[in-house]
Amino acid sequence: MEKNDALKKGIAYFSFLKSIGIDYVEPGKRNIQTPPVTVQEDVKITGGLASILSAVEKCDACGLHRTRNKTVFGTGNPDSTIMFVGEAPGEEEDKQGKPFVGRAGNLLTKMISAIGFQREEVFIANVLKCRPPENRDPKPDEVAACEHFLIEQIKAVNPVIICALGTHAAQTLLKTNEPIGKLRGKLHDYHGVPLLPTYHPSFLLRSPNMKKLAWVDLQMLRDEQAKRVK
Ligand code: SF4
Repeated sequence: MEKNDALKKGIAYFSFLKSIGIDYVEPGKRNIQTPPVTVQEDVKITGGLASILSAVEKCDACGLHRTRNKTVFGTGNPDSTIMFVGEAPGEEEDKQGKPFVGRAGNLLTKMISAIGFQREEVFIANVLKCRPPENRDPKPDEVAACEHFLIEQIKAVNPVIICALGTHAAQTLLKTNEPIGKLRGKLHDYHGVPLLPTYHPSFLLRSPNMKKLAWVDLQMLRDEQAKRVK
């Protein structure tokens, strides 16, 4: 690559980091280059995930089936080494049947890109597959009814690491009331898979000064993933 091209790429990369509120990168930390993939986000769900999808689409195990527009199963690479897990679909997700769309979804896409992945390369899901009305917090009985789908998804995708997005996803998965500020930045265990909590993109949109901490978490996620796929 020509020196000028490398410089232009470098400037574009740091401009991008700046655009998501990151203005400091630890010296010596490089973005990991991953091989290009052709996986599309709308990739047909096959194999073990297909039977889970079919069960989710028919599910009426909790009251949320009455108010949902679409179930939101999850999207991405069914063989991904990283899974991102949020709490539950919101209004737009319920309309489109996809997780993390809209402004928060755009920021998540940028966060994923900042650690060297395309959104289509990772798998993104929620704990709940149906939207709680008015985006209220999920009730314990709804989590109890739905969580087995996520556990089955994790077994099917078999990621080397999970990133829990936001307070509710982290607390629900880890069965704790600890605040996200205490949970983030550390590896936990979720059914035998390392789990790293970080802030939810919606929270980061409201609190841009916290993006620096999210960036620390994302670098840890990237490094832990790289260690485990060697
Ligand atoms: Fe079934 Fe989960 Fe939807 Fe409840 S939230 S109806 S358990 S898929």
